[in-house]
This record gives sequence, C-alpha cells and structure tokens, in this order.
Amino acid sequence: MKICENSKCTACGACRDACPKGCISFVKNEYGAETVVIDEKLCINCGRCSHVCQVVNPVEKKEPIISYAVCLKDLKKRNASASGGAAYALYSKIIEEGGVAYGATYSDKNVITFKKTDNIEDIAKFQGSKYTYSDMVGTYKEIIEDLRQGRTVIFIGTSCQCAGIKKFVPEVMQKNLYLTDIICHGMPPAAYYSEYIEELDTKYGHIDEISFRDNNKFRFKAVSNGNTVVEDKAIDNLFMSNYTRKVFYRDNCYSCDYACAERISDITIGDYWGKDRFEPTDKGMSVVICNTEKGVLLFEKCKNDLFFTLKKYIDIVKTNEQLRGPSEKPYYRDIFLNEYKKNGFMYASSMTRNKITDDLKKSRHPFQKIKRKIKHLFIG
Ligand SMILES: Cc1cc2nc3c(=O)[nH]c(=O)nc-3n(C[C@H](O)[C@H](O)[C@H](O)COP(=O)(O)OP(=O)(O)OC[C@H]3O[C@@H](n4cnc5c(N)ncnc54)[C@H](O)[C@@H]3O)c2cc1C
Ligand code: SF4
Ligand code: SF4
Ligand code: SF4
Repeated sequence: MKICENSKCTACGACRDACPKGCISFVKNEYGAETVVIDEKLCINCGRCSHVCQVVNPVEKKEPIISYAVCLKDLKKRNASASGGAAYALYSKIIEEGGVAYGATYSDKNVITFKKTDNIEDIAKFQGSKYTYSDMVGTYKEIIEDLRQGRTVIFIGTSCQCAGIKKFVPEVMQKNLYLTDIICHGMPPAAYYSEYIEELDTKYGHIDEISFRDNNKFRFKAVSNGNTVVEDKAIDNLFMSNYTRKVFYRDNCYSCDYACAERISDITIGDYWGKDRFEPTDKGMSVVICNTEKGVLLFEKCKNDLFFTLKKYIDIVKTNEQLRGPSEKPYYRDIFLNEYKKNGFMYASSMTRNKITDDLKKSRHPFQKIKRKIKHLFIG
C-alpha cells in the first residue's frame, strides 16, 4: 500500500502520527532520504493516513492580505535570529498570553525535532535556521492535545509541516491554532547532516554546538569543548556549499507545491532582501506576510516589539525566489546522488563541492567574461 507517490512525499509525518496501529515508520532509501514504510501485517485499512496526507488532499491556498519588512527592536535577540527575529516576536506574544509555542530545535546535535514550550526563555532554542530535515514525530498528537485542553498554540516550521497540521487537526479545533510557515527553498535528508557531524566528531572530538547561519550571513560554525573548531563561509564549507547550491534537497522539494505567491498558513515569514533597512543595516531583517485575519490580528499585537514598514507583496515576491517557484535541480545533483549511493556523504559532497569551486573559478576567468559579453551583445 502507498499513501502518496514517493517523489511527492515531504516526510511530514502526519500519517505516522495518525495511524491507530502504529504501523507507519520512516526508513532511509538508497540516497539517504526518509521514506514511508507501512507494516501491511498490522494495517487495518482504516484510511486515516490518506485522509491526513497533504499530498493526497491538498490544503487550500490564499492570497496574502498585508506584508511588512520587520526587525526586533531588541538588538541582542535580533542577532540571535536567522534574520530579523519575526519568529521571536510571534512566539513571545502567544506565550505572554498563556499559549504554547512549537519550534525546531536540536534533540541531539545530529537530530532536529520539534519541541514545545510555554516559557519565554526557551524561545532561544528555536532561534536560528537549521538547514536540514526536522522530524515531526509525536508533534501532531501533542498539538491536538494542547488544543483540546483549550490552549492557544503557535507552530513555526516549513509549509509542508504546516499543511500536515492543517490536515491533522479538525477544522473546528483550529480557532486557537496559529500556523506560521517559513519561506523555504528545500530540506536535505537528515542522514547527510548527521554523517557530516559524525565526521567532525571524529576529527575534532565531541562537537557540542552547531550553527548554520550567523544572523544574515550564511556561515557554518562548530564548537568542541568550548573552542570553535570550524568557522566557514558557506562557499568554503562542505555542507553549506552544496546546500546553498541546491545540490542535495529531498526529491520532493524540487517540485514543492508551496513555493508560490499564494500561502496556506496564517502568517509567512522569511528573509527580507530589500535595500531600505533598519539600523544597524548590516543586521538581518525579516518579511512578515499575513495571510488570514487571525494572522493580521496576531501581528498587530507584536508591533510594539518591532520596527516595521509596510511593503507591497509584489515587491517581496520579486526579491524572494521561493515565492515564485520551487528550487531547480542543478547539474551537480545526479553526480552527488550516484556518489552517495556508492561512497556516502563525505565523498559525494567533496566531489560536488570541488566541481562547484572549479566551475566558479572558470566562470570568473577573463576569457569566459568576454565570451559572456559577446553572447549578451548578439543574443541579448
Ligand atoms: C530549511 C530552511 C530553508 C529556508 N529557506 C528560505 C528561503 O529560501 N527564503 C527565505 O526568505 N527564508 C528561508 N528560510 C527562513 C529564514 O532562514 C528564517 O527562518 C526567516 O527569515 C525567519 O527569520 P527569524 O529571524 O524570525 O528566524 P529564527 O528566529 O531564527 O527561526 C525561525 C523558525 O525557524 C524554524 N526552523 C528552523 N530550522 C528549521 C527546520 N529545519 N525545520 C523547520 N523549521 C525550522 C524554527 O521553528 C524557528 O521558530 C529558510 C529556513 C529553513 C529552516
Ligand atoms: S490504513 Fe489505517 S492502519 Fe493502515 S497504515 Fe493507514 S492509518 Fe495505519
Ligand atoms: S502524510 Fe506526509 S509523510 Fe505521510 S505520505 Fe503524506 S506527505 Fe508523506
Ligand atoms: S521546499 Fe517545500 S517540500 Fe521541501 S521542505 Fe520546504 S516547504 Fe517542505
């Protein structure tokens, strides 16, 4: 039995949480990607898994209502966020009003899962983008339980995860649920990140802290026993150079249904790349896109903690690629997958990283620049 096509499955895990017999699990396929497996001997054909699957039953999309460029007034908290700290403002407002917040965090340095908190101090654990697969195991059941108990819930994660929640939680129970999706260009399978961290462990001893991004700069950092052992610009780092070049996302991300201007959640947040920025201008700023009346009202309550300006949505879409379409598969992807199957992550990612670096050097060669100018003159 198959719930949806493997090439479309986002591994959101809603089916796994919904199954009354616990017969759905994820296994790694030959390319390391999480794949749904059903234990047919236990299955009672109840259909619950297909019912909650956002690929089988797509979620309705909406035109956004209003959009902003924002950043936290508190510079320390803004610095600790991936961009302007929009997530922090939303989380803290819900917690101040007695609600509960869900975010992606390190369960172990090798594994990212979702945790919940009703303590403002804990929001720090959710801050910072983790550019790898995050597991929602048990999260759907916890959210529904919190809503049953009358609590207000905010969840911030990818659109495919928000869509999974929308399908899992009956509509009549969604009044106190605030879904916020992050604009997303793709998620690599968890195996790649964990193989990379295992390698760093072997090389440097125990790695106890990881960061993928330093506010609005893409920089990979690893700390072992209090010492920074890796601090790379994205282009120099084995994991991030491939990630930012879109080489090794899950297969479904290259045809993501959520990479478009219409949105499925109450609020969408992402990076703001426009020119007019709040001081200090080298620090990150976020976009906040309110898609429902509920989202508009929540953002109104956050305004005291933020510097913000209204932005035309059309201009945000122009500067944010993933609001126009999914990431394209690059030429390097097939090379990576073939090598991964034979030789594992370190070998495959070194090979594609070296190819990327060589190709960049070649494209910067004066002869190539002249060739491009001539082509531009004649072809346009
Ligand atoms: C995999 C991924 C891809 C992204 N791609 C883009 C993009 O193409 N364009 C763009 O504008 N922005 C993208 N972002 C979003 C961006 O990095 C910031 O999260 C966003 O600008 C909000 O900023 P912030 O300062 O409020 O975030 P923060 O406070 O640093 O974090 C926001 C939230 O991100 C969530 N999060 C972090 N890692 C994960 C994860 N692995 N899985 C699920 N949720 C996670 C946490 O729950 C946290 O609450 C991406 C984020 C991730 C995780
Ligand atoms: S049909 Fe029911 S029992 Fe079978 S896998 Fe799906 S949810 Fe589980
Ligand atoms: S519910 Fe999610 S994990 Fe399950 S089959 Fe559908 S997309 Fe895949
Ligand atoms: S690109 Fe789309 S499918 Fe992939 S993780 Fe992001 S939202 Fe989910």
